[in-house]
Amino acid sequence: MAYDDQNIFARILRGELPAIKVYEDDQVLAFMDIMPQADGHTLVIPKTPAVTLLDLPADAAAYTIQIVQKIAKAMQQALGVDGIVLMQLSGTSAGQTVPHVHFHLIPTSVHQLGKHAAQMGDQDKIKAQAEKIKAAL
Ligand code: AMP
Repeated sequence: MAYDDQNIFARILRGELPAIKVYEDDQVLAFMDIMPQADGHTLVIPKTPAVTLLDLPADAAAYTIQIVQKIAKAMQQALGVDGIVLMQLSGTSAGQTVPHVHFHLIPTSVHQLGKHAAQMGDQDKIKAQAEKIKAAL
């Protein structure tokens, strides 16, 4: 599938749309999900344009997963959570809604997962969680 550079995450990466960021470097951005499935739901995206994990060059995938681990550790410390669901949907058939590869970090159990990308979260609450995660990084 061709990469659409007008997708929401490409626009966030270019600074055209706002995001509640928790981490950024030259290769990766991590920010809060606006429709969280649990408190602290965070997304980690490589800056490399790729629709799915299968399209992402292996070195970018390897680096992104290192940052996923770093953010997960900070979430554990900052939010006092035990289990974190790491979810990655590749392809619309899998339920992917934003066509820029991303990893979901959801502090919950697989048995508690709610409806996907369904309901806007409380932005002030999300911002407060982001501050806690940032402080733990
Ligand atoms: P997926 O269905 O795996 O592609 O997940 C896309 C995720 O992006 C969903 O969990 C949405 O809630 C989330 N999302 C959509 N738009 C935004 C946005 N502007 N900022 C942050 N998260 C978003």
